[in-house]
Amino acid sequence: MYSNSVSSSVIAVAEPWGSYQSQIKLSQWVEVLVDCPGCLDLFTYKIPDQLLIKPGDILSVPFGATQVGGIAIRLLTQPNVDIPLEKIREVEDVVSTGFFPSGYWTLLNQVAAYYYTPLIQVVRVALPPGLLGRSQRRIRLTPLAKENIAVYISPTAQQVINLLQKTPTEDYSYHYIQQKVKAAYRGIRELIRLGLAENYLEPPRLTQPKLQKAVTLLDNHDDDLTSRQKEIVEVLRRQGGEMWQSELLRLCSTSTSTLKALVDKGYIVIEDREILRREQGVTVIGDHHKSLTPAQNNALETINSLTRFAQVLLHGVTGSGKTEVYLQAISPIVEQGKSALVLVPEIGLTPQLTDRFRARFGNKVQVYHSALSDGERYDTWRQMLTGEPQIIIGTRSAIFAPLPNLGLIILDEEHDSSFKQDAPIPTYHARTVAQWRAALENCPLILGSATPSLESWVSRNHQYLSLPERINSRPLPPVEIVDMRQELKEGNRSIFSRKLQNALEQLEEKQQQGILFIHRRGHSTFVSCRSCGYVLECPHCDVSLAYHHVEAGAQELLRCHYCNYGRLHPPHCPECSSPYLKFFGSGTQRVAQELNKQFPNLKIIRFDSDTTNTKGAHRNLLTKFANGEAHLLVGTQMLTKGLDLPQVTLVGVVAADGLLHLSDYRANERTFQTLTQVAGRAGRGDDPGRVIIQTYTPEHPIIAAVQKHDYQSFCDAELAQRQALNYPPYGRLILLRLSSLDPIQVQNVAQIIATFLSDKEGFEILGPAPASILRVANRYRWQILLKFAPDALPNLPDWQQVRSLCPSSVSLTIDVDPINIM
Ligand code: ADP
Ligand code: ZN
Ligand code: ZN
Repeated sequence: MYSNSVSSSVIAVAEPWGSYQSQIKLSQWVEVLVDCPGCLDLFTYKIPDQLLIKPGDILSVPFGATQVGGIAIRLLTQPNVDIPLEKIREVEDVVSTGFFPSGYWTLLNQVAAYYYTPLIQVVRVALPPGLLGRSQRRIRLTPLAKENIAVYISPTAQQVINLLQKTPTEDYSYHYIQQKVKAAYRGIRELIRLGLAENYLEPPRLTQPKLQKAVTLLDNHDDDLTSRQKEIVEVLRRQGGEMWQSELLRLCSTSTSTLKALVDKGYIVIEDREILRREQGVTVIGDHHKSLTPAQNNALETINSLTRFAQVLLHGVTGSGKTEVYLQAISPIVEQGKSALVLVPEIGLTPQLTDRFRARFGNKVQVYHSALSDGERYDTWRQMLTGEPQIIIGTRSAIFAPLPNLGLIILDEEHDSSFKQDAPIPTYHARTVAQWRAALENCPLILGSATPSLESWVSRNHQYLSLPERINSRPLPPVEIVDMRQELKEGNRSIFSRKLQNALEQLEEKQQQGILFIHRRGHSTFVSCRSCGYVLECPHCDVSLAYHHVEAGAQELLRCHYCNYGRLHPPHCPECSSPYLKFFGSGTQRVAQELNKQFPNLKIIRFDSDTTNTKGAHRNLLTKFANGEAHLLVGTQMLTKGLDLPQVTLVGVVAADGLLHLSDYRANERTFQTLTQVAGRAGRGDDPGRVIIQTYTPEHPIIAAVQKHDYQSFCDAELAQRQALNYPPYGRLILLRLSSLDPIQVQNVAQIIATFLSDKEGFEILGPAPASILRVANRYRWQILLKFAPDALPNLPDWQQVRSLCPSSVSLTIDVDPINIM
């Protein structure tokens, strides 16, 4: 085919829309992104004289022996392929225009350029899967065709009309007509030119609406209920008055006949409700704006006064009511007929958050994230294009939501690393893209967090707004630090300190609820002494060494992921000679077993990637917990994010050390953020909270800052270190990730690239070094880190040249502004 490889250099697409009119005559060729699985290249087509094509139009083009859908990417005044002009095939037709809001391609281009990624890869991230393939191009007769007007039409066109007139709806798929009429495309084009037929794009067929029984609580206060019935009513009330019947039956372990009795007494109604394909739970009960605290009010006024592009950092402690500010900031936007985009870190926290948004804005709220089915994503995408004012809540890829009339972008928990994509390319950060998008749309961007990223904290481009107190002047929970070295010394070998054991017992006695946080990540982890807390570090790099899983029987190895320094795992602590020198790591499963053993009556719910990988699992587990079905929610990172459960009084952290000693320059920042966020889950209701953090290094300054809820002192100390070593936010990083099935080859190539780079000036090279998990899915991984001043961009190496040093058996990913250097 007429492929021209897309280089990773910038492709200039989409200047402002209007200015195209004048250029159209000049552009006789167009590069098309063809909808064909596995196609990475753009293909060049000729534009027939009678067609006007704009970038972003959806086209129908010949491809091999078939017609396929495609997107016009770039207009050309001359073809950039090396084949005779007459062999370049013509675009068949424009199927649909206006599929992308204006400015959209500028954004995609910006992403492609900044992250050194071919545009098509960016398009693949942005668009819902199968966008083109799922739509069917159809042809129908227009009203004009019925008026028997006398125009000359060709026999082929007549055949097409005849065919169409045979159906009651006077329409057929393009594909079908092509099968029935020879050279149908000519006839169809003619009919369209004469206004007798039109093209349209049919969205994929919706499946039959799915119905399910829902139970709604009525206002009824006669006390003629049995105690069992009262229980059911109470559960329903706590769930906001509405639930799916199946869920209520399960929660109350009751039968439909019991519910029927409640229906008869007029307490509840049961009716069929449609489950929409755009993911939607039970309709939540409506809710009104809360009257704001002075700090919230001040923040809202500032945000409301912004009418153009501006960035706001909303720094509010946990439970200070940031979400309420978002809700009220969005209200006037929607009233003005515009839409708002709300990005959140993970699906785990969306059920609660989306419920709060739906309670306020009803069905104007839609969710958009990669866990939706392809059909749901497609439907939501189409729905966004209607331009109706709406609120999209989504994870990082939702930053590409095609809202034509965007009035506000919000990134909640903006510090969260899940906004960064590590793989595949583009390795974009949703916050960075959000900044570009807000600038393009000329709308405000709000970055909200209790623990802002250091990037946002030092940025001078933001207006700073602060919510320094919790709602109702509730205190932040006191944080107790337990020295686990002491526990060991005093004979306690359990993973739970005596203090935590006590607190867990009390949960049971007082029938209160708690959250137990366990840090777990990957297979490799740091090595520390359980007697004295000593952590093995790299003598050159100021990061802890990582323990490597190697083949069974091989010597245990410790390595630095930055410079590749390595040493054997010593049998005794170099500091105190204790034999309790162990690599750290305890998963939720192990902790859950341990809990069952020590506290057989404590009911626990595991909330981690193993237990939440089915659809709706997050919501189910959280609902169970909110209903008091367990004392303790045990889980990983997911627990830290945005949970607002007023009945949680205890938060325990099994071992803070797993976070502190990640072999990454961001370990401190991440630890402070995670511990502060997880602590912030305690005491959000009327009962005061309590936080217990277990650690082997209680004297660590980060632990002290967490204990005092002291973001400022954490920042000052951390920023000083970053500045001294030129790490972000002061310097910038680019990580080259190399991988191959061949362990020797990837190491050699890494060395060759590093040597090539070493003659260049303007950046520092760290490595090459093996990645912390050296082998993943049988691929061996190496990396090279480039560190440079933010303004040194022009001096960066020629990536094309770097890529050319890589044989096809070694893959290279350029991770710009990497977050995970592991
Ligand atoms: P954050 O997002 O800052 O952690 P939330 O928005 O979740 O805080 O607020 C914490 C709790 O306080 C929520 O249950 C919320 O409904 C409640 N809340 C927020 N603002 C107000 C207010 N102005 N008056 C009363 N309650 C509020
Ligand atoms: Zn020791
Ligand atoms: Zn090192």
